[in-house]
Amino acid sequence: MTPRRNARATGRPARGVRPTAGRRRALGQHFLRDESIARWIVELSRPGPHDLVVEIGPGEGALTGLLAATAGRLIALEVDPALAARLRERFAAAPHVAILEADAIRYDYAGLPALRPDPAGRVLVVGNLPYSVGTAILGALLAAGPPIARVAPMEMALMLQREVAERVAAAPGSRAYGSLSVLSQMAAAVHLALSVPPGAFRPPPQVDSAVIHLRVLAASPVAVADLERFRAVVLAAFSQRRKTLANALASGLALPVELLRGLLAGTGIDPARRAETLSLAEFARLAEALPGP
Ligand code: SAM
Repeated sequence: MTPRRNARATGRPARGVRPTAGRRRALGQHFLRDESIARWIVELSRPGPHDLVVEIGPGEGALTGLLAATAGRLIALEVDPALAARLRERFAAAPHVAILEADAIRYDYAGLPALRPDPAGRVLVVGNLPYSVGTAILGALLAAGPPIARVAPMEMALMLQREVAERVAAAPGSRAYGSLSVLSQMAAAVHLALSVPPGAFRPPPQVDSAVIHLRVLAASPVAVADLERFRAVVLAAFSQRRKTLANALASGLALPVELLRGLLAGTGIDPARRAETLSLAEFARLAEALPGP
């Protein structure tokens, strides 16, 4: 049996300390039980022999075996020591698989391009993310992503709570559109790929899930001179969704509302609009027009 086939075949029961129910909940441990969905997620980025795959939260390995079967190299980040130890044992005979006991929020992703098995390969991130820290992990990946994408093509297939996935992928004018949509779409082209019901997991979560596919962008789709200022403007604009743009920005940025009305009018954006109607390009124009810190 080749190491890869061996790695796929040798799932073993957990040894040692099992996490308590409370710790499992805190770590979002809902394990995927539907193999067709697991295959579907892996199929979204089709790892090949030249690619590096980073799996976030491999858990009991529902995706890990499938990823290891075709990826040139697989690094899995699991924060639960017992699950990491169990997977390490399962993949002991697979030299292209590394199971790291690591926190995916704090992991240093910047060095990933150098870890590709081939300089022509891609960096792929795949994971069924824990709900409690799904947005924090996504934030860390999106912050690290564009510099990586300047060196290597980078794609991600991530399962999140459906409501969060819809917010990441939402278009202007929709109810789900907010700061998470704008900031995510500045870093990646996002596609809502698949809804997944609670029954696909054990134990079943109380919410629906969805998978998003993200193609990380080397450069943002609209030019901004100062990304931090852009971010501050977007967060302020959505801080009070029911207010007009001028009022929300005035309170969020602590600036006089009259100044904002004038600036908005100068950029051709009606100050009476709501933040959820603005495109990325309009937010960029607005950020450029505002006075610096
Ligand atoms: N991939 C497996 C599956 O689909 O069955 C498990 C998914 S489960 C929803 C989330 C996994 O992420 C758990 O194994 C959990 O221990 C792990 N996890 C939770 N927080 C984490 C973190 N900050 N960094 C890395 N892994 C984490």
